[in-house]
Amino acid sequence: MPDPRVSAMADGLIGSEILRIAGDVRAMVAQGAAVCNLTVGDFAPSEFRPPELLVEETVRALRAGETNYPPSDGVLPLRQAVVAFYERALGLSYPLESILITGGSRPGLYATYRALVDPGETVVYPVPSWNNNHYAHLVGARGVPVVCHADDAFLPTRAQLEPVIRGARMLVLNSPLNPSGTAFSEDALAAICDLVLEENARRGPGERPLFLLYDQVYWMLTFAGTRHVHPVSLRPALADYTVYIDGISKSFAATGMRVGWIVGPADVVRRMGSILGHMGAWAPRPEQIAVAKLLGDAEAIEAYHGTMLGEVYARLEALHAGLTALGERGYAVEVVRPMGAIYLSVRFLLHGAVAPSGAALRTNDDIRQYLLAAAGVAVVPFQAFGLAEETGWFRLSVGAISKEEIPATLERLERALSALAPATSAAA
Ligand code: PMP
Repeated sequence: MPDPRVSAMADGLIGSEILRIAGDVRAMVAQGAAVCNLTVGDFAPSEFRPPELLVEETVRALRAGETNYPPSDGVLPLRQAVVAFYERALGLSYPLESILITGGSRPGLYATYRALVDPGETVVYPVPSWNNNHYAHLVGARGVPVVCHADDAFLPTRAQLEPVIRGARMLVLNSPLNPSGTAFSEDALAAICDLVLEENARRGPGERPLFLLYDQVYWMLTFAGTRHVHPVSLRPALADYTVYIDGISKSFAATGMRVGWIVGPADVVRRMGSILGHMGAWAPRPEQIAVAKLLGDAEAIEAYHGTMLGEVYARLEALHAGLTALGERGYAVEVVRPMGAIYLSVRFLLHGAVAPSGAALRTNDDIRQYLLAAAGVAVVPFQAFGLAEETGWFRLSVGAISKEEIPATLERLERALSALAPATSAAA
């Protein structure tokens, strides 16, 4: 039944599945159970802190009275710092007019959808991916999800996009990818960039162009030989059609400080600035001033990531090794090599297996609930990232766990897996 009190859009908007799962985890912890919380895409301050410089400069700016409205496109020193940082770190050269500061990265995503896409227009995005289904709903777009597979590191290929890109208004890509922790190779991304350029070359003068939203909020977090690649460095002609989304939330473990930025073609960025100005989705002024200092300090960034990346990777690698070993011992567990972000993709192919209670595990959510109740292992199914198929894949996020809790977690997991009766007897 439609709710007559709210808009049809609000009525149809689905809340965050991850927050619902977090509620289950809190209930378990409240009962005193040992839970390894691999659900939230966030950091526990006991494990990961933002750079000290960022904290100090924020406090200093607050004390100095930097407490008024920031300019709606961001404070000038930060916009200048983003220009210089992108030049230095990514080899991109953009004018100041291409930079817009946002209150975390989410408003950048929303403003890009809002500024480019009219109701009914087509947005193509891969699944699993983070929240594109929700953003498409918010602007009334026709979302076209492209289901990606483990064999392709859960990233879309040119061959998959080719049949659906005709006439589309926007293609959304994210690398390193939430939820999989995988990243594009140069060849795979270059092939997609060529597809975007070919599609735009094909369109007539009266037709609206295809844009590429490139969400790279995890780009500073890559490991094990993975190198971040991005569209405009591979194909400079894409500068006119590419909007980069970025911010400090993940790269500097500063999710609560709410500073992000958009880098894109100046004509479009100007429109996004107007949208965000009316929403008031700005970053707090003291934090903006502090981020300007941080981005300008290459040594501080290097020193910070020198430690932080090792800590993230140690957790991912320990889980990867332990889960691989479970697979080798015959359990229905598969795991993908971590390349970036703070995530690991794991498959628990337990559909049909029977729990000691006698209940058969039918869906990914059944599996999730069993792992939580029987092993105290809290994970998020790929369904929370727009995937409809019950493939048994889950996201594990390591920002809120300690290295020390991993061995006991793997032991609890093995006990819970060995307590399951196999799928064949479930049919009997
Ligand atoms: N993009 C991706 C891929 C993300 O995973 C997230 C956060 N989970 C965001 C954007 C939004 O980040 P922020 O917290 O800065 O709004």
